[in-house]
Amino acid sequence: MTNVQYKVIVGLEIHVQLCTKSKMFCSCAVEFGAAPNSRVCPVCLGMPGVLPVMNRQAFEYAVLVGLALDCRIPMFTKWDRKSYYYPDLPKNYQISQYDLPLAANGFLEIPLESGGGKKIGIIRAHLEEDAGKNLHTAGNFSQVDLNRTGTPLLEIVTEPDMNSGAEVRALATELQRIVRFLGVSEADMQKGHMRFEPNINLIITKDGAEYRTPIAEIKNLNSFRALERSVNYEVRRQLDEFLETGQVMEMGNKTTRGWDDEQEVSVLQREKEEAHDYRYFPEPDLVPVELTPEWLQQIRSRLCELPLQKQMRYVEQYKLSDYDAGVLTAELSTAEFFDEVVRDGAEPKRVCNLLTQTGLKIANEKGCTINNLGVTPEGIAHLARMVEADTVSSSSSVSIFEVMVETGKGPEVLAEELNLIQKSDAGELERIVDQVLAENPGAVEDVTGGGKKSKKARGFLLGQVMQKTRGQANPKVVSDILDKKLD
Ligand code: ZN
Ligand code: MN
Repeated sequence: MTNVQYKVIVGLEIHVQLCTKSKMFCSCAVEFGAAPNSRVCPVCLGMPGVLPVMNRQAFEYAVLVGLALDCRIPMFTKWDRKSYYYPDLPKNYQISQYDLPLAANGFLEIPLESGGGKKIGIIRAHLEEDAGKNLHTAGNFSQVDLNRTGTPLLEIVTEPDMNSGAEVRALATELQRIVRFLGVSEADMQKGHMRFEPNINLIITKDGAEYRTPIAEIKNLNSFRALERSVNYEVRRQLDEFLETGQVMEMGNKTTRGWDDEQEVSVLQREKEEAHDYRYFPEPDLVPVELTPEWLQQIRSRLCELPLQKQMRYVEQYKLSDYDAGVLTAELSTAEFFDEVVRDGAEPKRVCNLLTQTGLKIANEKGCTINNLGVTPEGIAHLARMVEADTVSSSSSVSIFEVMVETGKGPEVLAEELNLIQKSDAGELERIVDQVLAENPGAVEDVTGGGKKSKKARGFLLGQVMQKTRGQANPKVVSDILDKKLD
């Protein structure tokens, strides 16, 4: 076998559906699952003589994402027509942005599995309108649902800075977290709110010479799993193809491939169209958008602490593990809930345990988020402080949390009602310890005799005290008393 090494090069195009109430250029509602062709009007149906009007909210959402991706936001952008001939967009062109996108030259930092982060360049982000949906489920003919036609889409194009399927997936996941944190998209994969098109090739070193394989673009992926797997598949396929045929990148041998989710293979679709095939030209029906410094500032003021920043802050400031910090920041309302409990003076690590081990578990079972469980951040802070003060044990705090959700009662009341207040009264516990020692002379002998059996016997005695108090004794206090008595 000859000496072959390779490096994977991947760039990604992402379409994100923005969660505006109405469509990009008309006032039709953006609504998933409505009766086919019930959310349409002459504008999005492409009737002659109608005029589009820009959705200001969509524009502001797009700029907000651009700012979050550290992009340069030009003060002047315009719209272009992209020729498009397909029944799902009846006016035969898509309004998009060609040479003056609303955001450019940014980056997105992704968390790496090895720890740390990596910056992925963002070439541009622009707004456009979505097409409708062709349905091929009716037998010998196709149907078209134009409800989605004209929905605002943000297209984001990255630099080819990713070097594995895992990195591509990390970028997609991070972007989902960001647009959700910003509240500009539900980013629900099942509803097609995020669609991915990776372009992949390899730099192969063979016997000291370097070769580049032809770039393949995989169209229209709508899950993280398909995205990662298709990239990994394409890497193997290109390597095999190169070793078999020696084919390398030349002008015009970029290809477009589809992903077969069942067979887990990519399938050749066609040679790539070059940009001039789309015959872009400036959209005559829409005025360019001119940002003012005030307007831009107003949008900028809506930026929040981004998920990865938050995650890293939790690790540094609160000494949480990267995993825990990731769980808390997977979703904005959970992170905000955590922030509020901590602001209420509870110890962060304790709060993290309560929320990740108990709160999220209950929330998952109920299919909601922590902020919808009916418990307040103050209540959880109070519970956390009760554990810190040894008023209740951390295992009791789980039951209290659960009953707080069921009843809406406060932690203090419940600790009383459920008999979960820890006994820390040394006098009372001493009497119980004495009783246990009197009942178990053999174990006492083992402890005082020292040696192998000592540790086990001591544990047994402690267990007996806990049992007699039905787990309500503070183990630390009991342990101290035992030490004193058995010394
Ligand atoms: Zn419409
Ligand atoms: Mn596009």
